[in-house]
Amino acid sequence: MPGDIGFVGLGQMGSRMSMRLLDAGYSLTVFDRDEAAMKPLVARGARRAASAAEVASASDTVLVSLPTPDIVHQVVFGPGGIVEGNRASTLIDLSTTGPRMSGAIAEELSKGKRIALVDAPVSGGTGGAEKGTLAVMAACEKDVFESVQPILKVFGKVFFCGDKPGMGQTLKLANNMIAVAALAISSEAMAMGVKAGLDPQTMIDVIMVSSGGNVALRDKFPKAVLTGTFDFGFATGLSYKDVRLCVDEAEAIGVPMVVGAAVRQLMAVTNATFGPTSDFTSVARLLETWSGVEIRSRK
Ligand code: NAD
Repeated sequence: MPGDIGFVGLGQMGSRMSMRLLDAGYSLTVFDRDEAAMKPLVARGARRAASAAEVASASDTVLVSLPTPDIVHQVVFGPGGIVEGNRASTLIDLSTTGPRMSGAIAEELSKGKRIALVDAPVSGGTGGAEKGTLAVMAACEKDVFESVQPILKVFGKVFFCGDKPGMGQTLKLANNMIAVAALAISSEAMAMGVKAGLDPQTMIDVIMVSSGGNVALRDKFPKAVLTGTFDFGFATGLSYKDVRLCVDEAEAIGVPMVVGAAVRQLMAVTNATFGPTSDFTSVARLLETWSGVEIRSRK
């Protein structure tokens, strides 16, 4: 088993992944700028650090699950950052940062010749993080991949996506664009059906065994829209970031993304209307407001 592990960023995803590492028997040092986020993990046996640098001095491998590309960069290279630690030789970035930031961080780290980057974004939501059923999209040198695979397996199914950091990110952006597009178009279609008098649960029952079936209708609508709770577990601000990164990347490499651009605008309006900390299922709320209907379970 690889040596001591560190974890920075104990939010919706990081808290659950850290718990799994503790349950798997790893010795863990944690840091989050939010003191309260560290408490449940420390109560389960993790060591509390005062900075990312302290985590990197106590661990051979450091994992991060942070909100945005800029924050990841700052946590690695900024004051009190991971590069100031004196022990870690591997950094696993589980965040969604886009291929450009991942490539830039890998290059900057390679100059120090001490820390290797594993680009390893994940998919499967908070439920997957808790149960260990995430898809992990790893990209890094093959020998580094072999060495971190046992850690990544604690989170779910591990895929080797390529030998360059950033390749996992590209796959992750493609996945998230498809997922948010499904959420957006399902919100529009559900609003139409309900306004015309259909029962939303009947719609889902039928569509899920028909050609329109998708993960938004299978998981997100029953849990967070039909209940009116809008609390699936992923922030609108982060989802907006994902689709923005995706359209930017497609544009940068010369791939037109017509539908993706519309999805990005819809997430921009959701973000402006409900705020970045609202849940991304709020896109359905937007459609409810525009249509004058509520997509609620009547059964
Ligand atoms: P989150 O906002 O719930 O958690 C982020 C954590 O990072 C917070 O606890 C915050 O306090 C901490 N943090 C922020 N800045 C910090 C800093 N400078 N130093 C130390 N800690 C800092 O976000 P999340 O939903 O857990 O997502 C984390 C990453 O995983 C994002 O990149 C997101 O896009 C991606 N992701 C999320 C989901 C999901 O369903 N929530 C699924 C797959 C991927």
